[in-house]
Amino acid sequence: MQSERYILGLICNKEDKLLILLDGRKTSQKILEDVRRNVSELKKKPHLVVILVGNDPASRIYVTNKQKAAWQTGIRSTVIEMDYDTTDDELLNKIYELNDRPDVTGILVQLPLPEHIDKNNIITAISPLKDVDGFTPENVGRLAIGLEPYFYPATPQGVIMLLDEYNIPIEGKDAVIIGRSNIVGKPMAQMLLRRNATVTVCHSYTKALDDKIKTADILISAVGKKLVRCKMVNKNSCVVDVGIHRDSNGQLTGDVDFDFVSDSVGYISPVPGGVGPMTIASLMYNSSKIYQ
Ligand code: NAP
Repeated sequence: MQSERYILGLICNKEDKLLILLDGRKTSQKILEDVRRNVSELKKKPHLVVILVGNDPASRIYVTNKQKAAWQTGIRSTVIEMDYDTTDDELLNKIYELNDRPDVTGILVQLPLPEHIDKNNIITAISPLKDVDGFTPENVGRLAIGLEPYFYPATPQGVIMLLDEYNIPIEGKDAVIIGRSNIVGKPMAQMLLRRNATVTVCHSYTKALDDKIKTADILISAVGKKLVRCKMVNKNSCVVDVGIHRDSNGQLTGDVDFDFVSDSVGYISPVPGGVGPMTIASLMYNSSKIYQ
């Protein structure tokens, strides 16, 4: 149903208003091509090392997708696989070793980690100069106090790149984010504040969520369940759906009820084909930067 309504990324909604689809696939390819060109001109080639602990099938797919994008852009990539039973100390020692290796320019620990591992302890050990995910306290702190982080977190950076590609104004706009995770919601809020948006961050304790969503010029949903319905959204708003989960038929879907919400808003990102590919492109953009 969704695809029948697309014509070159533009669709008319039921009110015969032009709706613009925020095409993450197309935009990500442009970014990957820019990264490829930049990497081809570098004397020292970037080398991304991804650490995968355990055997989570979804994580394995994410890692494979990152490797494919690295190949596409000429970024050398290595995957280090560690057993599910790996201890904190073993993982920390691996990170210290990679921090010290001059040939390694980026380190990414694939999340989630097995439950027995202290995630924050591990992330904190990564050198901020190689922290391509932008999750270390130094990079998070730099973002929070208005200094340039060495790396912005990939998903929020991908969202900003997508908004910029479609010339969606951010400055002075009311942005509502649903979700306050460390990897999406919180850095997204910081990045939008940096661009002079007025930001509201909602979560599972938020009262009158619908009223807050209604105020959004830019709505970013990062929850992981179907939550944003037609009547909640502001006409002409821009809706970015970060959520990814499977519906009861096993199909990939987002937080936003696309078919109905697209009937009133001005811009919308689909799932799949929206923020997902942008995250990978944004990660490759980060991975092409070399600080050491
Ligand atoms: P998360 O850590 O589980 O956070 C989910 C957030 O949603 C939490 O802040 C939670 O509030 C909030 N929430 C849950 N139910 C809610 C409700 N009924 N009303 C309002 N807020 C509610 O998830 P995440 O890691 O940020 O990921 C969110 C989604 O984005 C997932 O579907 C994930 O797969 C997807 N994702 C996609 C990409 C991509 O590249 N496309 C990247 C990252 C994540 P509390 O804090 O109060 O619990």
